[in-house]
Amino acid sequence: MNESERMRHAEGGSRRSFEERSLALELEQIEITPESLYEDNQSEKARNLRAEWRENRARGNLAVIDKCSDARSFETSPENSTVIPSIAASGPIEPFTRVYEDNRSKLIIEMSHFYIPSFEFGKNPGGCGGRTAKAAHIQNGNGDPEKEGDIDKFIRENVPHSDVVINSLYRASLIAEKTDEKLVAAVAQDHSSGAYYVIGFSEKLPSGALKSVSAVPSHLLFENLYDPKTIYGEGIPYIHRQEIPDELREVLEANDKRVHELFLEFPDYAKTQSIQNPSTLIMSTSIKPVRTRFPQTFGLPGSFFEIRFGRKKIDDNEIVDPKSLSSALNQAHYPIEHSARNHDDKSKDFSRTGNILIDTGDIDLSLDLACELSEKPWMQEWMKHPEHKIIVSQTRGGEMTKAQYLT
Ligand SMILES: [Zn+2]
Repeated sequence: MNESERMRHAEGGSRRSFEERSLALELEQIEITPESLYEDNQSEKARNLRAEWRENRARGNLAVIDKCSDARSFETSPENSTVIPSIAASGPIEPFTRVYEDNRSKLIIEMSHFYIPSFEFGKNPGGCGGRTAKAAHIQNGNGDPEKEGDIDKFIRENVPHSDVVINSLYRASLIAEKTDEKLVAAVAQDHSSGAYYVIGFSEKLPSGALKSVSAVPSHLLFENLYDPKTIYGEGIPYIHRQEIPDELREVLEANDKRVHELFLEFPDYAKTQSIQNPSTLIMSTSIKPVRTRFPQTFGLPGSFFEIRFGRKKIDDNEIVDPKSLSSALNQAHYPIEHSARNHDDKSKDFSRTGNILIDTGDIDLSLDLACELSEKPWMQEWMKHPEHKIIVSQTRGGEMTKAQYLT
């Protein structure tokens, strides 16, 4: 019995309403040009998603998803999410304080990820490149700041730990401390199945004290007492559904539904998840999820790797927060270096990453950012391949108004 037949069987043999598709094939066939992106952005589907997003925002019904940039991890419902992606979900918090604090969002989810098929009892689960790089750093005595590459600098300065539980709880607690009385959940997604595991949640009380609930006893989280044999001795620790707040349970239930549909629609879904090979690196200032702006092009899990620029407005002009700018450029080193190195072997990660989309509220700003990126030596290696393309665009309020190739 194959995966989809098993699903059908589990449903009591009911007829599926989904046509079977191949995720691997569709990911390879995605077309990306300035024209195709514009058309996608102006489609009825995209307009409806954005209208729903605005309604959810007006009702204070958004969830902020602070996630890893990894192409395989995804937010469940773009119509009620704002997304802040960074490598290992560990980018600087300050440039996005306004987004975390916005009272039109009711919940913040700090979302790490891991890969269950390679999990071993008693060991920190792998699957996130940023955390793996952190582990290598620690082994090498934290590297040499004089000689390190841009991504190593990002990891040394920003990624707190190689462990998924510690990273998630640390980040959730850090964000909770900076936001007033908002629930901040630490969630890890198994990117082989899309399933969410709630590892903990935190909330700042009116007195300023922090209330935190964790699937792991706190004494195991102190630096010298960290013990993966105990934390993962019986599997991935998580908090059971009946013990989590309602608003978080709703997110989990929506995710159950979405991944169930993904498995029915794409019998090869799990098979495509062992490596990430997105068509596009997206660097953007927009907090509206990519799937509300380009639902056809980037609707599938695995289709894009994303890094966010934090923005500032000065006299009505949009600029990128300088701290966020250097951090985002350093993060781009990771997918771009892998893409240039693996270009000739399409079975390797990022080997198909042939597009970079730089999308901000001002085409001149997008052009400036593209030029700044192009000065990086690792970027010049990537640009040596003539089929690699950079698209710069202008999107305001989710509506794309200009898009062109960087020539
Ligand atoms: Zn990751």
